Order: sequence, then structure tokens, then C-alpha cells
Amino acid sequence: MENKEIASVFKLVGQIMELHGENKFKARSYANASFQIGRLSEPIREMDPGAFEHIPGIGKNLVPKLLELVQTGQMTYLTDWLEKTPDGVLEILKIKGLGPSKVRLIWQEMGIESVGELLYACHENRLIDLKGFGEKTQLQVQEAIEFMLQNRDRFLYASIEPLMLEIKQWVGEHYPDALVSETGGMLRRDLIVESLEMVISEDVESFPDTSMNKIDVHFHRVSKASFEDEVFKRSGEGTVDEGLVPEMRNVPWAKEWKLQYSNEELIADADLKGCLHNHSTYSDGMHSLEVMATHLRDLGYAYFGICDHSKTAVYANGLHADRIEQQHTEIESLNAQLGPFRILKGIESDILMDGSLDYEEDVLKSFDLIVASVHSVLKMDEATATKRLITALENPYTKILGHPTGRLLLSRPGYPIDHKKVIDACAANGVAVELNANPMRLDIDYTWIPYCMEKGVMVSINPDAHRKEGVDHMRYGVMAARKGGLVKEMTLNALSLEDLLAWLQR
Ligand SMILES: [Zn+2]
Ligand SMILES: [Zn+2]
Repeated sequence: MENKEIASVFKLVGQIMELHGENKFKARSYANASFQIGRLSEPIREMDPGAFEHIPGIGKNLVPKLLELVQTGQMTYLTDWLEKTPDGVLEILKIKGLGPSKVRLIWQEMGIESVGELLYACHENRLIDLKGFGEKTQLQVQEAIEFMLQNRDRFLYASIEPLMLEIKQWVGEHYPDALVSETGGMLRRDLIVESLEMVISEDVESFPDTSMNKIDVHFHRVSKASFEDEVFKRSGEGTVDEGLVPEMRNVPWAKEWKLQYSNEELIADADLKGCLHNHSTYSDGMHSLEVMATHLRDLGYAYFGICDHSKTAVYANGLHADRIEQQHTEIESLNAQLGPFRILKGIESDILMDGSLDYEEDVLKSFDLIVASVHSVLKMDEATATKRLITALENPYTKILGHPTGRLLLSRPGYPIDHKKVIDACAANGVAVELNANPMRLDIDYTWIPYCMEKGVMVSINPDAHRKEGVDHMRYGVMAARKGGLVKEMTLNALSLEDLLAWLQR
């Protein structure tokens, strides 16, 4: 073992001890040993073990540990600590700018155990309220994580899309007559992709430089005559003549879908009339209710559901009854100003452990719209999770089931549920299912949309926006919905305001 490796083991021990809240001086003795070992010019492996105690920073206490490490390549003391520490927390420890004491807060106070969960918490502004954090630190953490995630070899569609657009723009600028298109998984709008495939017509002589990116980019050069065929061929089976929209290439329900519906019926961005499930500064959003509302109105939406967090979501500044009243008064006055645009009085109610909603009946009935979601105790077996959701669905005040599995793509698998039973319960109770449009969620998974439609369950494409820019995520929801073959008439927020109100009041 080289001194450098030995030093890093000691450093890690110190960090993990601090992470677990061990005595600071004890933890720092390991950090100091690491520092001193790093400065040694003589390789430890060539030293006489009898001289170990004279190494600065080592002393009698650490000699046995150093000896074990040098002789076996392992340190039992470290292995014991590692066993008590979730892998995801260790990964968080690698994020630039986060020391062990900060990671400890994130882990212990917020219950976050993976990098993906932490990134999501940044998107929801949950870090800024933590002691020693602020908006700046939160942004740094977010950027560091995004960098880290980009360095892995599976990518969210949304994280590769900017590169794809950049390539198209580059080709457009340098070869205005050339044809260029994405193909493969990117053309199909797969939720996760492993490479970026581009088809370019032969009049492009040189390609844009993509070497700075971690994802493999492949350029396929073809004649203009075979361009369309090539794009098609590389994105799925079948032939161009069969038509069907790229998103539904390679999905097993495509043929059956075509027998029932036409492409014009498939949901598209322009069909969305409203935007349900959004947050404001009343709970953990970045922008005020008024800013969010005017933004949505200016985007051309007819209605906007504000669904801040409910009281049990303490970490997210969930609303108690008095603040709900205050919000409802503000909504009424904004509605008077902004009409016919309409703000709906909603709440994202936590689904408690026993499946009940987060308020008494007199509060529940004051809302136009309740999105019921699980946010705490995500570690459940399938039977428990399914029962918890179904109990919530049977509550007459539940209108939409929010992010049904709680998954975070590439980061957290989500609790297991019996999708069929849950969707059946939605059908029986007239509840819609959310397709959470955040590109890290896209939950309910699109593969369940055909079953929702078969059972007559409406799907609501919700951005779950925590700032006004978050509304832009709606289009990722639409992409996923199109893969599932979601049609306009089964999309809750494609209803007119009048029809939506009627649906809510049934
Ligand atoms: Zn939620
Ligand atoms: Zn939400």
C-alpha cells in the first residue's frame, strides 16, 4: 500500500466517525494522522513497524490499526463503521463542498440516504432551512450532484436533451441544408438513455465536438434519400409506412392501441388546459402564490391547482389550518383579479402510515382538489404500501393519487406496489392517477397507462413545480404519457375548467 492510499483510509475513518457524531477529538486524530501520512516522504510499507509510533500523528493508539492496514490491506475498525453507514450516505460524503458534519445533518435531520434524494431536496428548497446551509450552499450542492450524476453511464432523457439540441443547432448553423435528427432511445423519448444517436445527411463533413460529454455520441451519416428510413430503422422495429409516433415505437401495446385510437387523439403539449399540483412559498416553493399564478396565466393555462404540503410534512413547512384559511383568502382575491383564469384551492396531503389523510373532515372539505401522496416511511413491503394507498384512495376527499411509487429515476427505486390493485381502487373510487412530470420521477410509470385507460382511470400530468420554471417539466410528462398511449380525453388536465370542476364535484 502506498502512503497516499493509507492516508485516504485514515481520512475516511475520521469522516465516518464525524458522520456518526463520534467524539470530535477522536475523529480528528484520524484526520490528522491522514494529513501527516500524506506529508511523509518515506514509504510506510518499507518502514520497520517498531518505528510506526514515531510517525507524527500516529502515536501508540493508532499503531495497531496502521499495522493491520499495512499487513492485510484492511482496517477492521473502518469495516465496522462502514457496515453501520448506508452506501448512499457514503456517496453523499463524496460531494464537493459537503463535509461530514453537514452530511450528518442531511442524513439525520432529513432522513436522506442517497444522492438522488438529496438532489430532489435541493429542487424542493429543503436544504436552505438546515442549520449552516443557505441558498448558495444548496445551489453548490445541486450543481455538484448534477455533475456527479452526469458522470455515470446512464442518463435521464432530460439531462441529455440540451446536448441533442446543441448538436442540432450546430449542424443548422454550419450546414443549413443538411438534415439532422436524433434517433434510438432519444427519439423514442425513453426515460433513461445510455447513448445519443444522431442521423446526419451526407452533406455534413465534420461533426460537432462532443468529447467533453460523458455520454457516447454516435453520428450516422446517410444520404438524404435514405435519411427518414435510417432515423426510423434505428429507433425501433417495423417500417416507415406503418406510421405511429416515435414515442410508441417498441412498446408492446402499440398495435392494439392503433386499433382503438388515431394519432390525433394522443395527448400533446398544446392539449393541456391546466396545471395541477404546484407549490408556493406557503410551503416549500420558491415563488409566491401570486407569481406562480400569473406565470401560469401568462403561459396560457386556464387553471392552476395550488397544492402545498400538508401539516405532517414539517420539513416542507406544511400548512396548518390557520395558514390554509389565509391561503384561501388570498386565492379568492387573486381569482377576482385574474379571472377567468382560476386558481383551485388544493393541498398535497400526506398519506399517513395508516392511509388516512392529514386533516380533519372540516378542513378537507374546504379544498377544491386534494392530491394524496406518500412522503414519509418509504420503506414498506408491497402489501403494506398497497394497503396504505388504497385506504387513501377510499377517502372521498382524495381526487388524485400523487407520484404513486415515490421513485426517483436512477437514484431510488420507489416502494413496491401492486399496480393493478391500486389502479382498480382508483377506478372504484373515481380518483385520477398522477403522472408526475418531474424528469426524475415520471411516476406513475408510463407502462401502466394502458391499464389506467382500460379501467377508465384519468391520468393527470402534473409538474409538481416548486418554482415557476418547474412548470416547464410538463412536457417531460407529456413525452412519457405519449409512450403510454395516453389520449386527450383520459387526461385530467386536458379538460376545460368547466369540465374539470364538474369532474371534481361528482
Ligand atoms: Zn409530493
Ligand atoms: Zn408536490
